[in-house]
This record gives sequence, structure tokens and C-alpha cells, in this order.
Amino acid sequence: MNKIIILGGGESGVGSAILAQAKGFDVFLSDSGTLQDKYKAELNQYGIPFEEGGHTEDLVLAASEIVKSPGIPNYAPLVHQAMEKGIPVLSEMEFAKRYTSAKMICITGSNGKTTTTSLIYHILKSAGLNVGLGGNIGKSFARQVAENNYDYYVLELSSFQLENMYSFKADIAILLNITPDHLDRYDHDIQKYIDAKMRIAQNQTESDAFIFWEEDPIVSKEIKKLVSKGKQYTFAEHKVGNAIAYLNDHEIDINTPNSAFIMEQDLLALEGLHNLYNSLASGIAAKLLDITDENLRHSLSDFQGVEHRLEKVAKVRGIQFINDSKATNVNSCWYALQSVKTKVVLILGGTDKGNDYTEIEQLVKDKVRALVFLGVDNSKLHKFFDGKIAKIEDVQSMKDAVEKAYELAEEGDTVLLSPCCASFDLFKNYEDRGNQFKECVRKL
Ligand code: ADP
Repeated sequence: MNKIIILGGGESGVGSAILAQAKGFDVFLSDSGTLQDKYKAELNQYGIPFEEGGHTEDLVLAASEIVKSPGIPNYAPLVHQAMEKGIPVLSEMEFAKRYTSAKMICITGSNGKTTTTSLIYHILKSAGLNVGLGGNIGKSFARQVAENNYDYYVLELSSFQLENMYSFKADIAILLNITPDHLDRYDHDIQKYIDAKMRIAQNQTESDAFIFWEEDPIVSKEIKKLVSKGKQYTFAEHKVGNAIAYLNDHEIDINTPNSAFIMEQDLLALEGLHNLYNSLASGIAAKLLDITDENLRHSLSDFQGVEHRLEKVAKVRGIQFINDSKATNVNSCWYALQSVKTKVVLILGGTDKGNDYTEIEQLVKDKVRALVFLGVDNSKLHKFFDGKIAKIEDVQSMKDAVEKAYELAEEGDTVLLSPCCASFDLFKNYEDRGNQFKECVRKL
């Protein structure tokens, strides 16, 4: 029997294991860390053998195929060895796609993935389609393929998942933008990261769609090298180049081959330029799927937004607190700063992933009243910002960060948590960081 080894026992790995077993494979799951109790219980319930706290090399290297969780890099020694031996190493998506003929709407980009994926899911679900949501969000795609029978999937794909996707094809692929991120996992070589992102359009034929940002400097170059044949549809802030979706005098226009959709910009639920892009990209996808104008208009205006993304928390004595904890790179902080109309006290810092702060320098100089560095090691931030902003404070807990920011802010200001960095030095993850922020704000 074909032996499938699943590397990694989180939601992605456990979902893959369940699907592999349902399809009759001999499955074994291996994780170098510890598994959460709920996943152990599930594996036991299904009778799927597993190990944790280390990999038994011989077992893993005896696999006919390996399904690898996105958290494990291709350069991990065991993965590398397996690849050298010629064992196919697949992502969960590549594996699970074999067992569904549902239409795939796949979203990637350096920023905006979760927002756009959630928005498209909201549009399709509200329109009554039988649709699943997966990828980096919620339940794993593989688990849903095993347990449900959806006609459509909206999947958020990271570069890590895309790296191990080979014959996978998206019916509708969306590439929101490419800016440097995760360079620590790409030998600080941005081209490797770009190549992974561009895989979103791989294998597409003339009947598929590839939606991207007309003005993205990196994508515009890469598109010339593209061999796949998906029909290209682009969005932009204004009507430029080949853009078919854009802002036109306080209205958004979305022109697909079968429709000309118009909606007042003010009615969009999501605010800010970055969210205009996310709404336009989602609107193109929706119109290509023949969602009616009425349904689309409704969903674009009643979407609730996603937690930890420019989330308004509260106003305390005239000071607005915004939780953008998910801004884990410099570019997303740029958009956050750009969308705020008042003076800002900016809380940033954490685990640096090779950041260059030049991108936000001008906006910080124009808008920021004070900076609060929240991290174990703030030296890189000091090196860049010292002398450029008069007031800078260092803190090592969220409580101190919020209290300090509150002290430094004046009435009418915004206190913005948009850290540019990962959270692992002081928090479990970005959700924990955002939740602590909200809790501390509510205690002011
Ligand atoms: P991702 O899933 O790609 O990390 P999210 O939707 O979670 O993206 O948003 C992360 C952060 O990126 C948000 O806090 C927001 O400030 C910023 N952002 C959202 N959409 C965009 C976009 N289209 N372009 C640039 N930045 C964006």
C-alpha cells in the first residue's frame, strides 16, 4: 500500500491525515514538536498512528509521498533529504485537490489575504453558493474535502503552501501584491519569494482567471515571464493601463466581460486604500462567478471585517485606539498609517523578519507624534528612528505600551498598534498580541 507521511500535526497536517486515511492510504503523522491535545484525541479517534517530539528518519524516508505543513520549511534537513531521495513533498492543497472537483478561488499576496479571502467567502455564501473557506483560515482544506461536499472553495494561500504545489490549478487566482516578507525563510533572496507567489497562476488555461494589482511594480515585471494562460484582469486605484476595476469619481467600477458593476465608494464596508484594492479584487472574482449586482453590493457593504486588521477598539477621552496586530510587515503598517487621518502614536516592534523601515519613514515623519517600541530587542528600531522622531519610548509589555501611548497621545489622536513585526518575542501569536491590546485599552 502507498505510504503517506504527514509532517506537522497542526490543523493542516491532521486534516491531511484524515483525508489520506479516508482515501485508503497507509498514513503516519510525525511532528518534531508537541501536538495539541485536541489533535491527539482526533488522531486516536481515527486510529491514525503518529509520533511527536521528533521524527523517526527511516520511517519518514520510506514514504511514497510526504504531505508537509506550511510551517516546516523545504530546507529543514529531513525534508531536504526526502527531496534528494526523490520522494514527492506536497502541500496540503496539492494533496487534497486530487479529491475534489469544486471550483477553486485562491488568494495570495504579501498583505490582504485573510481580508480578501473572508470577503469573497462572505459574498459567495451570502449569494447562496455551497462554498467552503480554507487555506490559512479556519478548518483545513483537506479536512473539508474529507468531510464536506462543497461546489466552491475560497482558499487563502501563503508562499509556503504555494512552494509545494505542482499540478494544482486555481480557477480564479488572485495575487494582491508582492512586497518583501518572510525573507528569513528565503535566504534573504526576494526572487525566491516572488517565484513562490507567482505559482498562484500556474497551470491556468484560457478558461481560468488571474486577477492582480495593475500597479504592483514586482508583479508587472513577473507577468511578462508568465507561461500559464489564465485570462488577466487587473484592479487599480484609478483607471490606468489595462485595469478593469478602479475608483471613478467616488464610485467603484468593475467591468468584466459580462457586466459593468458600479457602486458608491462610501457604501463599502472596508475603509482605506488597501481595502479598496481588496474590495475591487473580490468584486472582480464575484462578477466572474456571476454573482448578481444586488447581492454583490449588499455583501460589499455589510461585511464585518476581520479581527486584528485595522480593528477599531474604542475611543477613550477622544483618543481612538486601533488594533492592527496582524500588520506583521512594514508594508501593511504603511497602509495602516496611510488610512489614519489624525496624528498617531504608533506602537511597533517585535520579532524582526529582515525589515527595512525606509518605506514608512516619510509617513512616520508626517503623522506620528510619538513611537512606542514594544519588543525584547528594540535596537534596530532605535538605529533607524532615533533623531527622526522626538518622542520614543521602550516597553516590554502590552500594559506598559498602552499606558505609555495613552499618556503620549493628545485628544483627537489615534493610538495605532501596527507592529511591522512578528509577535513571538513577547506573545503567543498576533491574536494574543491583539487581544492583550484590546484588554488593556478597555482597562484604561
Ligand atoms: P494577510 O492575510 O495577507 O496577512 P490581512 O488581510 O490579514 O493580510 O491583513 C494584514 C494587514 O495588512 C492588515 O492589518 C492591513 O493593515 C494590511 N493590508 C490589508 N490589505 C492590504 C492590501 N491590499 N495591501 C496592503 N496592505 C494590506
